Amino acid sequence: MARRKKVYEGKAKILYEGPEPGTLVQYFKDDATAFNAQKKDVIDGKGVLNNRLSEFFMTGLTQIGVPTHFIKRLNMREQLIRSVEIIPLEVIVRNYAAGTMSQRLGLEEGTQLPRPIIEFCLKDDALGDPLVAEEHILAFGWASQQDLDDMIALALRVNDFMSGCMFAVGIKLVDFKIEIGRVWEGEFQRLIIADEISPDSCRLWDMETGQRLDKDVFRRDLGNLADAYTEVARRLGVLPSNVTHTTKPTLIN
Ligand code: 5GP
Repeated sequence: MARRKKVYEGKAKILYEGPEPGTLVQYFKDDATAFNAQKKDVIDGKGVLNNRLSEFFMTGLTQIGVPTHFIKRLNMREQLIRSVEIIPLEVIVRNYAAGTMSQRLGLEEGTQLPRPIIEFCLKDDALGDPLVAEEHILAFGWASQQDLDDMIALALRVNDFMSGCMFAVGIKLVDFKIEIGRVWEGEFQRLIIADEISPDSCRLWDMETGQRLDKDVFRRDLGNLADAYTEVARRLGVLPSNVTHTTKPTLIN
């Protein structure tokens, strides 16, 4: 069997050359990392859940007219995506204070923010993905003013969509991170949602109990991460209700 070419390997995913020019195969690993990879583990089933959940969110976004890199799911761990030129910024949207915002500003976790707040972090592991201002982004040429305007508009649409999806199943979308890529169509370029949208990159709290259903379960040793992600998938109808982590995720087509 011919070996396919690995294009990039990150902490949670591997990218392989796709079957056609302009496509890639995105493989979801079971590896979990936190605190810039100082904490590491392998969580059985995480990659399968994130593949399926990212498909669910990206497909929904496409349906409401938000462009994404997602083309189709190929199997349990892989999806076909459009190749993009990644903008070297993490775009974070926050609805409630938590994590680094709470630490930086001394806000109690869970404090509702006056409006969604967008932050940009430079994608640079060696520097620990530092928070940057729009001034830095423009001065250093990481993105143009037009890119920034488009990124903010996309991020707010993703926020509205994700908040609604989660609200419908009793989950509060506290914050999330997305990555955005540039694609060229003839002479024109546009920005689309890339990477993944999953509980690895969101904070999701049960509305009734405040139970964490996201990667903070791993970061803060709050229980079994795959069980938390399975609960999110089950509520969204991505998995049947009788599936638990111990019986392994079963996918519905
Ligand atoms: P914080 O800045 O509070 O650590 O993170 C804010 C939000 O962005 C959280 O939902 C967190 O999961 C997400 N986030 C920030 N940086 C990263 C990252 O490097 N990887 C992933 N997967 N999510 C991130």
